[in-house]
Amino acid sequence: MKIIIVGGVAGGMSAAARLRRLSEEAEIIVFEKGEHISFANCGLPYYIGGVIKDRTALIIQTPAAFRRRFQVDVRAGNEVLSLDRAAKKVKVKDLASERIYEESYDKLILAPGAEPLRPSLPGIEHANIFTLRTLGDTFKIKDFLDNHKPKTALVVGGGPIGLEMAENLAGAGLQITLAEALPQVMNTVDFEIAVLIHKNLRERGIVLSLSDVVKSFADKAGKVVTFLASGREIVTDLVIFAVGVRPETQLAEEAGLAVGRGISVNEFLQTSDEDIYAIGDAIEFMNPLTGKKYVAALAGPANKQGRMVADNIVEGNKKKYRGTLGTAVVKIFAMTVAVTGLAAKVLDAEQIPYESVIIHPGSHAGYYPGATTITLKLLFSPTEGKILGAQAAGVEGVDRSIDVISAYISRQGTIYDLTSYEHCYAPPFASAKDAVNMAGFVAENVLSGKLKTINWDKVALLGDAVFLLDVRTVEECRRGMVSGALNIPLDDLRVRLGEVPQGRKIAVYCGVGIRSYAAVRILMQKGYGEVYNLSGGFMTYSSLQDQ
Ligand code: FAD
Repeated sequence: MKIIIVGGVAGGMSAAARLRRLSEEAEIIVFEKGEHISFANCGLPYYIGGVIKDRTALIIQTPAAFRRRFQVDVRAGNEVLSLDRAAKKVKVKDLASERIYEESYDKLILAPGAEPLRPSLPGIEHANIFTLRTLGDTFKIKDFLDNHKPKTALVVGGGPIGLEMAENLAGAGLQITLAEALPQVMNTVDFEIAVLIHKNLRERGIVLSLSDVVKSFADKAGKVVTFLASGREIVTDLVIFAVGVRPETQLAEEAGLAVGRGISVNEFLQTSDEDIYAIGDAIEFMNPLTGKKYVAALAGPANKQGRMVADNIVEGNKKKYRGTLGTAVVKIFAMTVAVTGLAAKVLDAEQIPYESVIIHPGSHAGYYPGATTITLKLLFSPTEGKILGAQAAGVEGVDRSIDVISAYISRQGTIYDLTSYEHCYAPPFASAKDAVNMAGFVAENVLSGKLKTINWDKVALLGDAVFLLDVRTVEECRRGMVSGALNIPLDDLRVRLGEVPQGRKIAVYCGVGIRSYAAVRILMQKGYGEVYNLSGGFMTYSSLQDQ
């Protein structure tokens, strides 16, 4: 069997290696239009920032080494120009010699990835405006830093690549402005988590320009002037344009394959032509939670799909792809932010009913030195408690918590699974009831009616209709409290109940939601009807106020 793979990085090379491990007989050719194969896309920002010092560390495999080990004909610098499905041939251009030739196939795998969006804004062709996808892009940016010693940079786009570039350019000593058209960075998380990222970025000296759209660019004595819709102008030595990616669908479209936002594939990752499979950033697939078509630009899914598609080609279609939950993590200075499943805003847009809780557990036992706070938001269905999504920010333990919840979501798990999930525990690593258990416990309290929660945005809308009760200590309240709230420390609540009005909606808060939960339980058992625990407590409130 002769198998051709278009695209020689994450998905394509994963497929090539697996194909060879399954079949010594298959003829395998990989076409990669770039100069390099198997490079570490995800490591590129860290090379630019100087964290990864040696550029050769980014090249995981060379065509020659891969050929030696796997007997795969890897042709870097060769672009597939078109597919002839009837003749089962691809037309290829050797970019160095400009020779155009054809190659036949029995099976074809499309793994062409996604390209950075670069809308045709006036002035965008300025030499100091960069996008980042390939090693070539990376070396261009790095050489610019080394040769021109820039002092300032604007990063346009607050997604993971924009955030990583902001961190790394700041690490290289540049003063950074980050411009985002939306009111928050990292759109895959909800605002309560995003505000923590904003705080973290500002503390590191990064200037945030939110809710403002970049309209055009111009040159000013070799610098880039960026014009925003608000009328603001930002002058910097360079601009990193990182506003997202678009699946590479052109080859597939021109060949008449079914294409939506990405190349359409079935559960075996087969396109509308049974001899052509497609994987990675280029495809669209059903989101397991919404049931709607979804594109995800993530290395994990691309690599796993590469392996799966090789199995399906060699062993017949047996492996079914279940879709991705968009589980992702990003490091932003000392902070880790991770997400899985659906955010509240997506659930709202999809009109999927949900409940949510926000908790602030420690990363490990509080009495063992070095524990840090995790902010964890869990979203779940209000009926059977099916987990719909989770997001977390903190320093340690964030990725572990989200990985566990992701595993449960992919198995249709519920919040009750989280209450009994068994983790390895010793004080330096976790708490006896860890963050995931705690999220499950609070969610269980909500579903069983033991606890009603309310979010700060809803409280703000209710205004005077809600009585705010702060159950932190007097000392904590001296450092700041919500205007109009009454402070009754939790330990005094039973004797000062007379100060809490009957017949009103009451929202109780403390630092992070644990003491207020105890207060809510006291009030409910004393006959107060409408008592709510304010999600995330004063910690979430103060982060929102910082905006
Ligand atoms: P790619 O790995 O992009 O490979 C596609 C290849 O196909 C490209 O090299 C392209 O040149 C080639 N190609 C396209 N068309 C043709 C053609 N006609 N002929 C020949 N060759 C062609 N994901 C994460 O999960 N975590 C991260 O931390 C992370 N960080 C990232 C950081 C950066 C800077 C970037 C750019 C991406 C990052 N990603 C991350 C995303 C991740 O790299 C991609 O999701 C993954 O590489 C997709 O794999 P793929 O095989 O679909 O595409």
